[in-house]
Amino acid sequence: MGLGMRPSVGPGIGARATAIPVAVPAVDPEKCAGCGECAKACPFGAIEVKGGVAVVNAALCQGCRACASVCPTGAID
Ligand code: SF4
Ligand code: SF4
Repeated sequence: MGLGMRPSVGPGIGARATAIPVAVPAVDPEKCAGCGECAKACPFGAIEVKGGVAVVNAALCQGCRACASVCPTGAID
């Protein structure tokens, strides 16, 4: 299954359809209180609190922004 097998959607559109960019949120470690609310809110299990700071796993994150909406300190951009 090479690149030639990709279904043709239209000029310049096919490549985008297979690689929709995910906006992975950034955690500001200065603002993060390590409360873990974001990790609980993430439907994809993409956040872990490590050493008192939330860390987003970019490989799992779907960019839904649920974490940013629950963070009490506004640490997630
Ligand atoms: S944006 Fe969504 S998927 Fe990504 S870490 Fe936040 S809650 Fe999880
Ligand atoms: S919700 Fe905000 S303060 Fe709490 S762990 Fe997540 S990023 Fe840090």
